[in-house]
Amino acid sequence: MEILTAIVVMALGALTLGAALGYAAIRFKVEGDLITGKIEAILPQTQCGQCGFAGCKPYAEAIARDEAEINLCPPGGDEGARKLADLLGREFKPVSGGGDGEAAKPKLTAIIREAECIGCTLCIQACPVDAIVGAARQMHTVIDALCTGCELCVKPCPVECIDMAPVPETLATWKYAYPVIPIKSVERASDVSHNVAAMNDAESSHQKVA
Ligand code: SF4
Ligand code: SF4
Repeated sequence: MEILTAIVVMALGALTLGAALGYAAIRFKVEGDLITGKIEAILPQTQCGQCGFAGCKPYAEAIARDEAEINLCPPGGDEGARKLADLLGREFKPVSGGGDGEAAKPKLTAIIREAECIGCTLCIQACPVDAIVGAARQMHTVIDALCTGCELCVKPCPVECIDMAPVPETLATWKYAYPVIPIKSVERASDVSHNVAAMNDAESSHQKVA
């Protein structure tokens, strides 16, 4: 009987603690985490580091803190940058800084020169999206549809048999290039009329003095 009472008391204690922790998690949830999570969900999770951060999560955190641009992720491309702009109400900028007349970097895919591959498997280990297939001491190849063009497999290859090539544009891959209209600050009509009135006042007082 005493054992049963002890079990009931422990179960009730665990339930009470669980409920308190659950309530606290919802009641005191930090809003920043919510935004970071939404940003992270848009990022492609390739963890390639091309954005200049150690992975997708640190980049998402930097965006949430307004410390990073939203167009630094080549695997996410313009589509990802546009989603981030919509989510955060920021101005859309094409990936690779194409805004200042610089051509946007074309989407790349890895190609293994299979005859030269020695089957070391280092590229498989480097690929964050499992886009390379092969086995030890066997030829390796890239699954085009999965490759994000992150280039992480290029450096580890000891025989330098991996090339990055632009993805050829086909009817299936073509996307309409949205025109980018830069946002410029303009004077409000009331400010303009106020400035004109001030200029007229200054001119008339100048004429009186003369
Ligand atoms: S195959 Fe190479 S370039 Fe393509 S996603 Fe994998 S690591 Fe990146
Ligand atoms: S790193 Fe280079 S040599 Fe090694 S398996 Fe990959 S493609 Fe082949």
